[in-house]
Amino acid sequence: MRLYTHPACLQHDPGPDHAERPARLRAVLQALDHDRYAALDRIEAPRATREQLLQVHSTAHVDHILASAPPEGGTYRLDEDTVMSSGSVEAALRAAGATVAAVDAVLSGAALRAFCAVRPPGHHATREQAMGFCLFNNIAVAAMHALGTHGLKRVAIADFDVHHGNGTQDIFEREPRVLFVSSHQSPLYPDSGREDEHGVGNIVNGTLSPGAGSHEFRELWDSVLLPRLHAFKPQLVLVSAGFDAHRNDPLSDIRLGQEDYAWITERLVALASTHAGGRLVSTLEGGYDLVALSACTNAHVSALMV
Ligand SMILES: [Zn+2]
Repeated sequence: MRLYTHPACLQHDPGPDHAERPARLRAVLQALDHDRYAALDRIEAPRATREQLLQVHSTAHVDHILASAPPEGGTYRLDEDTVMSSGSVEAALRAAGATVAAVDAVLSGAALRAFCAVRPPGHHATREQAMGFCLFNNIAVAAMHALGTHGLKRVAIADFDVHHGNGTQDIFEREPRVLFVSSHQSPLYPDSGREDEHGVGNIVNGTLSPGAGSHEFRELWDSVLLPRLHAFKPQLVLVSAGFDAHRNDPLSDIRLGQEDYAWITERLVALASTHAGGRLVSTLEGGYDLVALSACTNAHVSALMV
């Protein structure tokens, strides 16, 4: 199994009081700095190319981000909570490039599974705009690369971040070769992801009420989301791995524990084994309590390495 990351992903700094801070990635990497992860094949993420980004984003959006890095020490505010620093363009290119390289690795047989420890996250970025801490939609770039360059016909994206992956839905809601399945708290930012949003039959949203916990989360995946994923018979499983539904996370009101992340990861690994020859690529999305983020990273990556 491969781990893709890059030091540049620590240089994206939205400001001292921002939840999506470099310390998050340091917590993830420290969690994986242990003998039991010695078998991880650690790879420096390449940059995504402009052409790869243009498969999912408009020219205007890509050019806007690439041209908007402020000078050293400055910040550039894209919206209320999405902020760029001088290192943000390089970080965003490495974050998207990690998922593309991971797809190449699992589809070429060089690895079976991969985890991308990167930031900024991606699943709120739409075709046209950055939002919700996200500049480019990393998982969407990976999915389009699998469809376009590799010619796959069925790619599943499972998103268990506590927020709805509105950007991923926006990009794929008319693309039947991609099944997008999401569990998220409702109501919560970005106030999309209702269960009656179906795309072209390829969007499956499952909502959790504030206060829901392990039982409701597992019931949702067991009874609704996993059956849809199995029925789709994906050739590749992509995962938007956000750990902000943890009970200690400051941005949500869902009460999961690290064992729930082991549980969902085991089921997604089984999904990939059944239909996709085991091929799975996961990328970091949210998770804002550093202790919980470390524990959930351990649970997720340990389950991916089985
Ligand atoms: Zn989130």
